[in-house]
Parts: sequence; structure tokens; C-alpha cells
Amino acid sequence: MARDPQLDALNPKVTRRSFLKACTAAAAALGLADEAVPRLVEAAASPARPPVVWLHFQECTGCSEALLRASHPDIARLILDLVSLDYHETVMAAAGHQAEAALADTLKRHEGRFICVVEGGIPTKDGGVYCRIGGRTAMEILADVAPRSAAVIAIGNCAAFGGIQAARPNPTGAVGVRDLVADHSVVNVPGCPPNPVSFLGTVLHYLTFKRLPPTDHLGRPLFAYGRKIHDHCERRAHFDEGRFAEAFGDANHRRGYCLYKTGCKGPETYNSCPAVRFNDVGAWPVGVGHGCIGCSEPGFWDTMTPFYERLPGVAVPQGRGTVAAADRIGKGVFTVAAAAAGIHAAIGVGRKIWRSRSGGGEG
Ligand code: SF4
Ligand code: SF4
Repeated sequence: MARDPQLDALNPKVTRRSFLKACTAAAAALGLADEAVPRLVEAAASPARPPVVWLHFQECTGCSEALLRASHPDIARLILDLVSLDYHETVMAAAGHQAEAALADTLKRHEGRFICVVEGGIPTKDGGVYCRIGGRTAMEILADVAPRSAAVIAIGNCAAFGGIQAARPNPTGAVGVRDLVADHSVVNVPGCPPNPVSFLGTVLHYLTFKRLPPTDHLGRPLFAYGRKIHDHCERRAHFDEGRFAEAFGDANHRRGYCLYKTGCKGPETYNSCPAVRFNDVGAWPVGVGHGCIGCSEPGFWDTMTPFYERLPGVAVPQGRGTVAAADRIGKGVFTVAAAAAGIHAAIGVGRKIWRSRSGGGEG
């Protein structure tokens, strides 16, 4: 596929140093020992790049944007260099009939060998008429493409679990890929958007070990979704001691106390955000003062809302800190869910791992 000359001008190539950093970060995210890094590097440097067909259905393109955003160009460039992105409606040069021909050609030439990445939910109501591309419904396209691939990666909460389209009352009958594609290797990389390192790690695992990574019962790779946010959150000590922010901007919030009482969903959300972080700046939502909204969980638009009310059923430490006062004061004041999504979308992959594994410094 033709490269965007503007992108090439901005980020001419992955340097050897940044390439090794990205591979090392992926190895760390995968939980592999340092000894495994050369094998990852070898797989990533192979000239035989697997073809990728990237399907867009009901979505906002935020997952593609998160991968390709300029603030961590090495990850974006590495992903583009790792695979041969033969069909991706957002970034490919072709359009209309040319694009459809590119898809048909890729399927024919690489039958059984390409990776199918799906971004977006799939509407099933009324025969799937709510999403049509090139005259075919999303359901028809998925049924045609997915079984002919070597593996399917569902990127983002929409492709994994239906996403916001599937929120009650789900007027289009949106579902995730695994609801429609049976008997095929499908891995879910959920999030709104997911951390690019989770996607990169999944692709690198596939290239290196010739199989998709082990997953949990929801199809999420364990290397990225094997632990709760709450279990490796930097504010956890405050939670255990009963020290909570009561409202955004209060003294306890400024002290960096636990955000559970302002609505943090970390106690029920599985993701690697506290360890991997975002955007090559070492930041993540809870670290900068906003609770987790549970974006990697199925149905989070229904089950994790209101985003600024505390999660029920969590055993809160008693007898110390501000617990008693917190129970009197009540809930947080913000109600606009878009603010939460905006904060999460505005932050990208962190450099904690990069620094710890690569010895620090920028590439
Ligand atoms: S409730 Fe949220 S802020 Fe508090 S420790 Fe758990 S994940 Fe961190
Ligand atoms: S911290 Fe934010 S990005 Fe990470 S799982 Fe929670 S909502 Fe998603």
C-alpha cells in the first residue's frame, strides 16, 4: 500500500535504537525474559511481512488513531513496518472500486495466510443494514473475510464486545466479532482505545511464536489483561489505608489519594495501564488524577456508568483515613462521560518500560 509522503517526511524511519526499544518494550509487556528479545527482534526484522486486512465497521476510528498518532511515531512506524497493510480504508491511497479490488486481490493472493484486524462493532438487526460498505453489510464482509484469514484480532471495545453501539438499547443489534465468528482464532484487544503496546505485543507474539498469545475467558491476551488495574495501581496503598479523594480538586485529590470514591472502576477492570502507560510520556489516567472508566470490560458503557459514582460491592477499608467523612460527603460532581473518554483518548503509551529496559534516554 502506498505510504503517506507527509508521514514519511515527519518520521522518515525507525532508527535501530528506537526499533530495539520498541521490541524491548513489547517483550516486557509480554512478560518475556530479556533473553527472548533477540528472537522478537529477529521476527520483527524479517523481510517476510504478513499481509493484513483491516476492516472498519461501526466505530469512530479511534483505535487506528491511537496506533498511528504522531506522539509515539516509533510504535506506529514499527507496526506499519512489521506487517503489510494491504487493506485499511482510513490510510490506504485507494478508494471506491479500487479499494474493493485491493481487498478481493489480497484475499485471493493470501488465502489462509493474512491477519484480519477488525475495528468496530457489527450491527446484526434488520439483516445488518446499518453498516454497508461497497454494497455489502458488515456481517457479510466479516463472514467472507474472517474464515479465510490465519487469525483475527478484534481491536477496541467495539470489535471485541460491541462497544458504545451495543449500549442499551442497542438499536442496531451491534455485537463483537466473537459473537459471529466461530471456530476461528479470534483474539480480543479491547479498550477505548486499547494501548498500542497491547496490539503490538499481540502481533509480535504471533510473528515470533507463530500463534496468538494465551487469553482469558473473554479472549483477551493475558500478558495485557491478566491483572486488574486496582492490583497494580500506584494509588493502591492509599486505598488500603482508607485514604480517598472525596471530590475532584479537593485536598485529598491533590495529595494523590485513591480515586475510588470519585468513580474509579479499577477494582473491576483488567488492563495493563498502570504498568505500560501511554503516549511515551509515562502518564496514565489514574496517574494524572482521573479514575479508570473500565474501557476494556464488556458492556462498560452500561455496567461501568455513571462514570463518576463509586463502584458498588467493593470492600472499602474501614477505620482509618477519611472513610467516615467520605460516606457523608457522597459522590463526585462530574457527569459528562465524554470528558472521561477524552482524557483517556488524549493520553498515549508511556515510557516507564522503555526507560527501565533500555537504560533511559530518548531514541
Ligand atoms: S480504586 Fe482506582 S485509584 Fe484507587 S487504588 Fe484502585 S485503581 Fe487505583
Ligand atoms: S485506566 Fe483508562 S485506559 Fe486503562 S482500562 Fe481504565 S479506562 Fe481503560
